[in-house]
Amino acid sequence: MSALPYEVVIGLEVHVQLLTKSKLFCGCRNEFGLPPNSATCPVCIGMPGVLPVMNREAFELALKAALALNCEIAPFTKWDRKNYYYPDLPKNYQISQYDLPFSRNGWLEIDTAAGPKKIGLIRVHLEEDAGKMLHDETGQGRDSLVDLNRAGTPLLEIVTRPDMNSPEEARLFLEEIRLLLRELKVSDCEMQEGSLRVDANVNIHIPQADGGFVATPIVEVKNLNSFRAVEKAMAYEAQRQYEEYQQTGKKLGEVPKATAGWDETLGMTVVQRRKEEASDYRYFPEPDLVPVVVDEAWRERIRASLGELPAARRCRFQNQYGLSVYDARVIISQGLAFADYFEELASLVGDAKVAANWCTNQVLQVLNERQWTIAEFPLRPSQLAELLEQVRKYRINPQRARDVFMRMIQTGTSAEVLVRQMGLDVTFDIEQLRQLVRQAIANNPKALADVRSGKAKAIDALVGPVMRATQGKAPTDVVRQLLQEELQKA
Ligand code: ZN
Ligand code: MN
Repeated sequence: MSALPYEVVIGLEVHVQLLTKSKLFCGCRNEFGLPPNSATCPVCIGMPGVLPVMNREAFELALKAALALNCEIAPFTKWDRKNYYYPDLPKNYQISQYDLPFSRNGWLEIDTAAGPKKIGLIRVHLEEDAGKMLHDETGQGRDSLVDLNRAGTPLLEIVTRPDMNSPEEARLFLEEIRLLLRELKVSDCEMQEGSLRVDANVNIHIPQADGGFVATPIVEVKNLNSFRAVEKAMAYEAQRQYEEYQQTGKKLGEVPKATAGWDETLGMTVVQRRKEEASDYRYFPEPDLVPVVVDEAWRERIRASLGELPAARRCRFQNQYGLSVYDARVIISQGLAFADYFEELASLVGDAKVAANWCTNQVLQVLNERQWTIAEFPLRPSQLAELLEQVRKYRINPQRARDVFMRMIQTGTSAEVLVRQMGLDVTFDIEQLRQLVRQAIANNPKALADVRSGKAKAIDALVGPVMRATQGKAPTDVVRQLLQEELQKA
């Protein structure tokens, strides 16, 4: 735990845009970056008399996400109108889910420094997005434009329990959910494009002398545009609440819940206003949509399509390959294709630790430097496996091995050819040299006895015969290393 004089309590509300071809209730394209208002129709611009029709693909993606998030799926679910006025909301209400969300009571496990931790989920529901306001496009501070391309696109809202106890845990949760939803192709979770948006509820518990604690009023922080911003905002807001409590003594329940914006430039939260209550929205059932009934067969068909989820794979990598928690986490966090690459390499090389080491160091470094995905990486696992075989066979040192690796990437030449072109010592492979070393030891009982009686110098007497047997072509450092190893066994 931290050394802070209080405990931080964080709950998140995450909105993700679903990767459907069309919008939630009409056939308009669901695509980022189209010319303003080009993907619109009477339904999504809220013309009177139009009727919404539920997008089956959106509902199935939502089901997929909720099942992967260990949620209970409601057998019966309906939609509700959430009424509010805003220029980017032409109908003056959002179609959302109120009292009967399609799923609730889930959890997602995160890997904290102190071990795995389950973060509870209150509910996951499906709703439509609003359009977007563009302010001051001319730079004269006079105009605000409305783009309705986003209006009516499908959104998944995921509400966690207040189970995160540090800004870092909040970041880990977001990283885990992004990884999961990307792997499932539910959402691309691009924060920059707004396809993943986060509001964070935070307050603190201050321990008291009687063993209890005092809770400060909850503040909901908005405008968080990166995971790093979430982490910084939570740390800032917790400390601000601590100082405010010391000045005012105001506790949870004594003042209404407030919203705050995160100012990235100033690095501070700015408390804005009293938060709306659910009653302010006058929710009522959406009369134009039929409720959805999810039977067991449908639910189980979607569940069966999930495949191995990141957390399960991370666990398997530790058990099956003996990887450390850290290596398993690094490999899985790169995504499914990278993990597949590792598995193929590990099976070709026959040594998972060597494979993991190369994947998490050399390969990852090149991917980061060149901004490549693993699909763009020019070496297939078989080519890299060939290099690792050469490294093992001739005990090529790490620096040399890296040189060959970089040259393979640049030229596409095979490891075997490059090792020879680059003049590395490969006249004798390691098993041939080991045989010669064993012979030398067997032929020199006196040297062996000397080494055993502690005369380290006696090794020199054994290097000579091996070098003569290879006409001086063996690398002396490798010969010495092998002598040490064999003498220990002799
Ligand atoms: Zn439309
Ligand atoms: Mn929402």
